Amino acid sequence: MGGDVDPETVAENLAALANPLRIRILLALAETRRPSWEHRGMRYSDLRSAVAVEDGGRFNYHLNELRDQFVRGAEGKYWLTTAGSRIVDQVYARTFSGAHEAISGPVEWHCPAGEARLDATFEDGILTVSCPNHGVLFDMRLSFTAPRGRDLDELFAWANRRALWYLESVSWDVCPHCAGHFEELTFTTRSLEPDTRLETLRWDTSTMVMAGLRCRQCGVSFRIPAFHYALTRAPTIAFLHDHDIDYRTLELEYGSPSWACESEVLDDGVVIRFAIDDDQLEIELDSELYTRSYRRTSLTGER
Ligand SMILES: [Zn+2]
Ligand SMILES: [Zn+2]
Repeated sequence: MGGDVDPETVAENLAALANPLRIRILLALAETRRPSWEHRGMRYSDLRSAVAVEDGGRFNYHLNELRDQFVRGAEGKYWLTTAGSRIVDQVYARTFSGAHEAISGPVEWHCPAGEARLDATFEDGILTVSCPNHGVLFDMRLSFTAPRGRDLDELFAWANRRALWYLESVSWDVCPHCAGHFEELTFTTRSLEPDTRLETLRWDTSTMVMAGLRCRQCGVSFRIPAFHYALTRAPTIAFLHDHDIDYRTLELEYGSPSWACESEVLDDGVVIRFAIDDDQLEIELDSELYTRSYRRTSLTGER
Protein backbone atom coordinates (compact mmCIF):
# COMPACT_ATOMS: atom_id res chain seq x y z
CA MET A 1 0.00 0.00 0.00
CA GLY A 2 1.01 3.59 -0.52
CA GLY A 3 3.03 2.98 -3.69
CA ASP A 4 6.32 4.84 -3.66
CA VAL A 5 5.87 6.41 -0.19
CA ASP A 6 8.94 6.03 2.02
CA PRO A 7 7.72 5.69 5.62
CA GLU A 8 11.20 6.50 7.02
CA THR A 9 11.34 9.90 5.31
CA VAL A 10 7.74 10.71 6.26
CA ALA A 11 8.34 9.81 9.92
CA GLU A 12 11.50 11.92 9.99
CA ASN A 13 9.70 14.93 8.53
CA LEU A 14 6.71 14.57 10.85
CA ALA A 15 9.04 14.31 13.85
CA ALA A 16 10.08 17.90 13.13
CA LEU A 17 6.55 18.97 14.11
CA ALA A 18 6.56 17.33 17.54
CA ASN A 19 7.14 20.45 19.60
CA PRO A 20 4.63 23.10 20.76
CA LEU A 21 6.97 26.00 19.98
CA ARG A 22 7.33 24.81 16.38
CA ILE A 23 3.55 24.62 16.04
CA ARG A 24 3.38 28.19 17.35
CA ILE A 25 5.92 29.25 14.70
CA LEU A 26 3.76 27.69 11.96
CA LEU A 27 0.64 29.40 13.33
CA ALA A 28 2.43 32.75 13.52
CA LEU A 29 3.55 32.42 9.90
CA ALA A 30 -0.03 31.56 8.93
CA GLU A 31 -1.03 35.02 10.20
CA THR A 32 0.53 36.40 7.02
CA ARG A 33 -2.36 34.77 5.11
CA ARG A 34 -4.90 36.95 6.91
CA PRO A 35 -4.72 40.22 4.95
CA SER A 36 -5.11 38.28 1.71
CA TRP A 37 -4.54 34.74 0.64
CA GLU A 38 -1.02 35.39 -0.56
CA HIS A 39 2.03 33.73 0.87
CA ARG A 40 3.92 36.76 2.09
CA GLY A 41 7.07 36.40 4.04
CA MET A 42 7.39 37.45 7.69
CA ARG A 43 10.45 39.23 8.99
CA TYR A 44 12.60 37.28 11.46
CA SER A 45 12.12 39.88 14.22
CA ASP A 46 8.34 39.91 13.76
CA LEU A 47 8.22 36.12 13.81
CA ARG A 48 10.29 35.93 16.96
CA SER A 49 8.19 38.50 18.79
CA ALA A 50 4.99 36.80 17.59
CA VAL A 51 5.95 33.56 19.32
CA ALA A 52 7.47 35.46 22.29
CA VAL A 53 10.65 33.49 22.90
CA GLU A 54 13.31 35.30 24.92
CA ASP A 55 16.13 32.90 24.16
CA GLY A 56 17.36 33.60 20.60
CA GLY A 57 19.39 30.39 20.42
CA ARG A 58 16.41 28.28 21.39
CA PHE A 59 14.17 30.06 18.89
CA ASN A 60 16.70 29.59 16.06
CA TYR A 61 17.09 25.92 16.87
CA HIS A 62 13.37 25.24 16.58
CA LEU A 63 12.97 27.42 13.47
CA ASN A 64 15.81 25.49 11.84
CA GLU A 65 14.14 22.17 12.59
CA LEU A 66 11.14 23.31 10.52
CA ARG A 67 13.20 24.66 7.64
CA ASP A 68 13.00 23.20 4.13
CA GLN A 69 10.06 20.92 4.86
CA PHE A 70 7.59 23.28 6.55
CA VAL A 71 9.19 26.73 6.47
CA ARG A 72 11.41 28.49 3.94
CA GLY A 73 13.39 31.64 4.39
CA ALA A 74 15.42 34.11 2.34
CA GLU A 75 16.68 37.65 2.87
CA GLY A 76 15.58 37.73 6.50
CA LYS A 77 12.00 36.68 5.68
CA TYR A 78 10.22 33.40 6.38
CA TRP A 79 7.11 31.79 4.93
CA LEU A 80 5.20 28.50 5.04
CA THR A 81 5.85 25.83 2.44
CA THR A 82 2.87 23.97 0.99
CA ALA A 83 3.46 21.23 3.58
CA GLY A 84 3.55 23.86 6.36
CA SER A 85 0.37 25.46 5.06
CA ARG A 86 -1.41 22.08 4.92
CA ILE A 87 -0.41 21.35 8.52
CA VAL A 88 -1.79 24.72 9.66
CA ASP A 89 -5.08 24.04 7.82
CA GLN A 90 -5.43 20.77 9.71
CA VAL A 91 -4.48 22.41 13.02
CA TYR A 92 -7.27 24.98 12.52
CA ALA A 93 -9.62 22.13 11.54
CA ARG A 94 -8.76 20.53 14.94
CA THR A 95 -7.60 17.35 13.22
CA PHE A 96 -4.87 16.81 15.82
CA SER A 97 -6.73 18.24 18.83
CA GLY A 98 -7.86 15.03 20.49
CA ALA A 99 -11.42 14.72 21.79
CA HIS A 100 -14.13 15.96 19.44
CA GLU A 101 -17.78 16.64 20.00
CA ALA A 102 -20.32 14.14 18.69
CA ILE A 103 -23.83 15.25 17.81
CA SER A 104 -26.87 13.35 16.60
CA GLY A 105 -30.54 13.90 15.92
CA PRO A 106 -33.21 13.90 13.21
CA VAL A 107 -32.78 15.76 9.91
CA GLU A 108 -35.49 17.26 7.70
CA TRP A 109 -35.26 14.43 5.15
CA HIS A 110 -37.44 11.34 4.95
CA CYS A 111 -36.59 7.88 3.66
CA PRO A 112 -37.48 7.58 -0.06
CA ALA A 113 -38.65 3.99 0.53
CA GLY A 114 -41.02 4.89 3.33
CA GLU A 115 -42.16 7.67 5.57
CA ALA A 116 -39.47 7.35 8.21
CA ARG A 117 -37.63 10.49 9.25
CA LEU A 118 -33.87 10.17 8.76
CA ASP A 119 -31.35 10.53 11.57
CA ALA A 120 -27.88 11.99 11.35
CA THR A 121 -24.82 11.50 13.52
CA PHE A 122 -21.60 13.45 13.40
CA GLU A 123 -18.88 11.54 15.18
CA ASP A 124 -15.12 11.26 14.72
CA GLY A 125 -15.41 13.72 11.82
CA ILE A 126 -17.84 11.54 9.88
CA LEU A 127 -21.41 12.54 9.11
CA THR A 128 -23.68 9.48 8.84
CA VAL A 129 -27.31 9.73 7.74
CA SER A 130 -29.47 6.66 8.32
CA CYS A 131 -33.02 5.41 8.14
CA PRO A 132 -34.38 3.55 11.21
CA ASN A 133 -35.66 0.81 8.84
CA HIS A 134 -32.98 0.63 6.14
CA GLY A 135 -29.75 1.50 7.90
CA VAL A 136 -27.02 3.86 6.70
CA LEU A 137 -27.87 5.79 3.51
CA PHE A 138 -25.01 8.25 3.35
CA ASP A 139 -21.69 8.95 5.01
CA MET A 140 -18.98 11.47 4.41
CA ARG A 141 -15.85 12.52 6.26
CA LEU A 142 -15.88 16.23 7.12
CA SER A 143 -13.68 18.59 9.08
CA PHE A 144 -13.82 18.23 12.88
CA THR A 145 -14.83 21.89 13.12
CA ALA A 146 -17.74 21.34 10.70
CA PRO A 147 -20.50 21.42 13.39
CA ARG A 148 -19.43 24.84 14.72
CA GLY A 149 -22.36 27.12 14.04
CA ARG A 150 -24.02 24.52 11.80
CA ASP A 151 -26.91 22.19 12.52
CA LEU A 152 -27.20 18.63 11.20
CA ASP A 153 -29.28 19.70 8.17
CA GLU A 154 -26.62 22.22 7.17
CA LEU A 155 -23.93 19.58 7.65
CA PHE A 156 -25.86 17.16 5.45
CA ALA A 157 -26.29 19.83 2.74
CA TRP A 158 -22.56 20.56 2.82
CA ALA A 159 -21.69 16.84 2.78
CA ASN A 160 -23.83 16.40 -0.35
CA ARG A 161 -22.09 19.30 -2.07
CA ARG A 162 -18.80 17.73 -1.15
CA ALA A 163 -19.99 14.44 -2.65
CA LEU A 164 -20.79 16.31 -5.89
CA TRP A 165 -17.30 17.75 -5.86
CA TYR A 166 -15.93 14.21 -5.44
CA LEU A 167 -17.93 13.15 -8.50
CA GLU A 168 -16.53 16.06 -10.53
CA SER A 169 -13.01 15.17 -9.50
CA VAL A 170 -13.41 11.47 -10.23
CA SER A 171 -14.91 12.37 -13.63
CA TRP A 172 -11.72 14.23 -14.49
CA ASP A 173 -9.62 11.21 -13.54
CA VAL A 174 -8.31 12.93 -10.43
CA CYS A 175 -8.55 11.01 -7.14
CA PRO A 176 -10.03 13.45 -4.58
CA HIS A 177 -7.79 11.95 -1.89
CA CYS A 178 -4.37 11.89 -3.55
CA ALA A 179 -4.81 13.34 -7.09
CA GLY A 180 -3.83 9.95 -8.59
CA HIS A 181 -5.16 8.48 -11.83
CA PHE A 182 -7.83 5.80 -11.84
CA GLU A 183 -7.77 2.32 -13.26
CA GLU A 184 -10.21 1.51 -16.05
CA LEU A 185 -13.85 2.09 -15.19
CA THR A 186 -16.14 -0.91 -14.73
CA PHE A 187 -19.92 -0.91 -14.94
CA THR A 188 -21.94 -3.43 -12.95
CA THR A 189 -25.66 -3.78 -12.38
CA ARG A 190 -27.18 -3.88 -8.93
CA SER A 191 -30.65 -5.19 -8.14
CA LEU A 192 -33.00 -2.90 -6.29
CA GLU A 193 -36.41 -3.13 -4.71
CA PRO A 194 -38.84 -2.39 -7.56
CA ASP A 195 -40.13 1.16 -7.35
CA THR A 196 -43.83 1.32 -8.13
CA ARG A 197 -43.71 5.10 -8.43
CA LEU A 198 -42.34 4.75 -11.98
CA GLU A 199 -44.74 2.19 -13.37
CA THR A 200 -46.39 4.75 -15.64
CA LEU A 201 -43.07 5.35 -17.40
CA ARG A 202 -42.69 1.63 -18.14
CA TRP A 203 -39.09 1.89 -17.04
CA ASP A 204 -37.01 -0.87 -15.54
CA THR A 205 -36.13 0.49 -12.13
CA SER A 206 -35.44 -2.90 -10.59
CA THR A 207 -31.73 -2.45 -11.32
CA MET A 208 -29.21 0.34 -11.08
CA VAL A 209 -25.93 0.64 -13.00
CA MET A 210 -22.96 1.15 -10.71
CA ALA A 211 -19.72 2.72 -11.92
CA GLY A 212 -16.62 1.34 -10.18
CA LEU A 213 -13.23 3.04 -10.12
CA ARG A 214 -10.03 2.40 -8.19
CA CYS A 215 -7.20 4.88 -7.69
CA ARG A 216 -3.87 3.57 -8.98
CA GLN A 217 -1.97 5.59 -6.40
CA CYS A 218 -3.75 5.28 -3.04
CA GLY A 219 -6.01 2.35 -3.90
CA VAL A 220 -9.25 4.04 -2.78
CA SER A 221 -12.22 2.56 -4.64
CA PHE A 222 -15.40 4.34 -5.59
CA ARG A 223 -18.52 2.36 -6.47
CA ILE A 224 -21.15 4.95 -7.25
CA PRO A 225 -24.49 4.80 -9.10
CA ALA A 226 -23.72 5.85 -12.69
CA PHE A 227 -26.57 8.36 -12.68
CA HIS A 228 -24.65 10.41 -10.11
CA TYR A 229 -22.07 11.17 -12.78
CA ALA A 230 -24.81 12.19 -15.21
CA LEU A 231 -26.11 14.65 -12.58
CA THR A 232 -22.98 16.77 -12.94
CA ARG A 233 -23.24 17.02 -16.75
CA ALA A 234 -24.43 20.22 -18.41
CA PRO A 235 -27.53 18.73 -20.13
CA THR A 236 -28.72 17.32 -16.78
CA ILE A 237 -27.96 20.52 -14.88
CA ALA A 238 -30.01 22.46 -17.48
CA PHE A 239 -32.82 19.87 -17.39
CA LEU A 240 -33.05 20.05 -13.60
CA HIS A 241 -32.79 23.85 -13.67
CA ASP A 242 -35.77 24.04 -16.06
CA HIS A 243 -37.73 22.23 -13.34
CA ASP A 244 -36.54 24.54 -10.55
CA ILE A 245 -34.05 22.04 -9.14
CA ASP A 246 -30.59 23.34 -8.34
CA TYR A 247 -28.29 20.35 -8.87
CA ARG A 248 -25.92 21.64 -6.17
CA THR A 249 -28.60 21.05 -3.53
CA LEU A 250 -29.43 17.49 -4.58
CA GLU A 251 -29.46 14.82 -1.95
CA LEU A 252 -27.43 12.09 -3.60
CA GLU A 253 -27.70 8.77 -1.87
CA TYR A 254 -31.38 8.05 -1.95
CA GLY A 255 -32.89 9.76 -4.95
CA SER A 256 -35.51 12.42 -4.79
CA PRO A 257 -39.28 12.34 -4.78
CA SER A 258 -39.33 15.07 -7.46
CA TRP A 259 -37.55 13.17 -10.22
CA ALA A 260 -37.03 9.59 -11.32
CA CYS A 261 -34.29 7.83 -13.22
CA GLU A 262 -33.30 4.53 -14.78
CA SER A 263 -29.92 3.38 -16.06
CA GLU A 264 -28.75 0.73 -18.51
CA VAL A 265 -25.29 -0.58 -19.44
CA LEU A 266 -24.25 -0.27 -23.10
CA ASP A 267 -21.35 -2.05 -24.84
CA ASP A 268 -19.21 1.05 -24.45
CA GLY A 269 -20.82 3.19 -21.79
CA VAL A 270 -24.07 3.75 -19.98
CA VAL A 271 -27.38 5.42 -20.72
CA ILE A 272 -29.30 7.28 -18.01
CA ARG A 273 -32.88 8.46 -18.31
CA PHE A 274 -34.27 11.14 -16.03
CA ALA A 275 -37.94 12.08 -15.78
CA ILE A 276 -39.57 15.05 -14.11
CA ASP A 277 -43.32 15.38 -14.54
CA ASP A 278 -43.82 14.64 -18.27
CA ASP A 279 -40.35 15.61 -19.41
CA GLN A 280 -37.54 13.17 -20.04
CA LEU A 281 -33.83 13.51 -20.54
CA GLU A 282 -31.80 10.63 -21.97
CA ILE A 283 -28.07 11.04 -21.60
CA GLU A 284 -25.31 8.69 -22.72
CA LEU A 285 -21.91 8.62 -21.04
CA ASP A 286 -19.03 6.78 -22.69
CA SER A 287 -16.68 4.37 -20.92
CA GLU A 288 -14.63 7.34 -19.67
CA LEU A 289 -17.75 9.11 -18.35
CA TYR A 290 -17.73 11.80 -21.05
CA THR A 291 -21.12 12.91 -22.34
CA ARG A 292 -21.58 11.24 -25.73
CA SER A 293 -25.11 12.36 -26.53
CA TYR A 294 -28.33 13.52 -24.96
CA ARG A 295 -31.94 13.92 -25.98
CA ARG A 296 -34.89 15.64 -24.35
CA THR A 297 -38.46 14.56 -24.99
CA SER A 298 -41.84 15.48 -23.61
CA LEU A 299 -44.55 12.88 -23.08
CA THR A 300 -47.18 15.53 -23.75
CA GLY A 301 -45.53 16.51 -27.03
CA GLU A 302 -45.60 20.21 -26.18
CA ARG A 303 -41.88 20.67 -25.87
ZN1 LIG B 1 -35.84 3.76 4.97
ZN1 LIG C 1 -5.96 8.19 -4.69
